[in-house]
Amino acid sequence: MSLFKYKAKRNLKTSREPAAKARNKKTSELSFVVQEHHARQLHYDLRLEVDGVLKSWAIPKQPTLDPKVKRLAIHVEDHPYDYKDFEGTIPSGYGAGTVEIWDKGTYSVEGANAADSEKAMRQGLKKGKLHFSLQGKKLKGDFYLIKLNRTGKEKEQWLFMKKAQTSKKTKSSETPQLTHLDKIYWPKEKITKGDLLRYYSKIAPYLLPYLKDRPESLRRFPNGIDGMVFFQKNLIDHPDWIETAEVKHSNKKVHYLLIQNEESLLYAANLGCIELHPFFSRINKLQSPDFLIFDLDPKGASFEKVIQIAQEIHQLLEEINVPSYCKTSGATGLHIAVPLGAKYPYEVAKKFAVVIASEIIKKLPNLATLERSIAKRKGKVYIDCFQNNFGQTLASVYSVRARPGATVSTPLKWSEVKKGLDPKNYTIETIFPRLKKWGDLFSAVLGKGIDIALALRNLKKINK
Ligand code: MN
Repeated sequence: MSLFKYKAKRNLKTSREPAAKARNKKTSELSFVVQEHHARQLHYDLRLEVDGVLKSWAIPKQPTLDPKVKRLAIHVEDHPYDYKDFEGTIPSGYGAGTVEIWDKGTYSVEGANAADSEKAMRQGLKKGKLHFSLQGKKLKGDFYLIKLNRTGKEKEQWLFMKKAQTSKKTKSSETPQLTHLDKIYWPKEKITKGDLLRYYSKIAPYLLPYLKDRPESLRRFPNGIDGMVFFQKNLIDHPDWIETAEVKHSNKKVHYLLIQNEESLLYAANLGCIELHPFFSRINKLQSPDFLIFDLDPKGASFEKVIQIAQEIHQLLEEINVPSYCKTSGATGLHIAVPLGAKYPYEVAKKFAVVIASEIIKKLPNLATLERSIAKRKGKVYIDCFQNNFGQTLASVYSVRARPGATVSTPLKWSEVKKGLDPKNYTIETIFPRLKKWGDLFSAVLGKGIDIALALRNLKKINK
């Protein structure tokens, strides 16, 4: 039935074009063909097998793989299945000229089998929108045919175009050239800027949740770890596709970089941002951090003490039913994070941290202090709770540090936080086997937050 028009238009006694027959056998894969047709005007005939015939469109200009180029496609009569192999000269009459196969292969709709793909094609033809993937020699990947609602035209006009591969890949093409990849960033280890970019590309799936929507302070080391460093918060000059967030500080407005995806992560790394220092809060709830952090930095005290204090904090928090997660800072200390779920303002988070720190100092008066001045610490470890302030930033989990060995701020199991732990052993190399083995040990830090009031009641109980 559907080949009636095909037959009516041609004199099949004089033309060697295939007879008006539908395919009778079932095929396991659907075929497509594009024929270059040197008729009165050169055009390309796209034909897709559906239900035993070839649904056909005449495309006046050569199809392209550029997703930005949309080709007009005139819907024409169905062609017999065997037409897919036809090459030759059509004598005078309809379509007179030569036909050559320009491309051919198979196609499917979202990887479905032939029957399901045909079903989707039938529905798509009714709706005027077809989405299919071609496996040809020239045409590869996902394509659209979209019907235009133009009235007064004798034949249906459609548009044929390549689907932009993924938003990710389209964005990559927008990413500016990564530069100076051979520059040595870690002279002793001969680690290059290219190695840093490769690390960030590989770690991106794990790291990005800790960066997304968080204003980012840039610490740029354009000449590697031994070169100058400059701090940059306000990012004014950047490509269009880079997102920034305007944050009001008491005395000024700052436009911070937002690292929203792998491309913007690599953009930052390409600027020489070895380290990533995001806010604890996200732009939609900028006054409420997702977590609080106890920052344990020995600064001259022994790391043994840091370990003991970390264990003590963990134990106390366990006793009051508060989960906590430890990571190396990537430098010389440890960070202990407690999830807050963006439920409390910074001020409340900080006060809670100070309450806990004060308890620890009561227990370990010879090891821990809340004394900020290094001279007055007298070899004790400062439990820094004041990073939990609006606008403060710390090296993110999975951030590389601009330190010898290309160390990484690495999440630890609490069972690893014991004598012998050495932050230098956690690097851009060692992180990946750990991730493979245990996944992201820090993921709960972005999860459900604690109930601070309940935690304080629990603390009162155990202090009785
Ligand atoms: Mn034609």
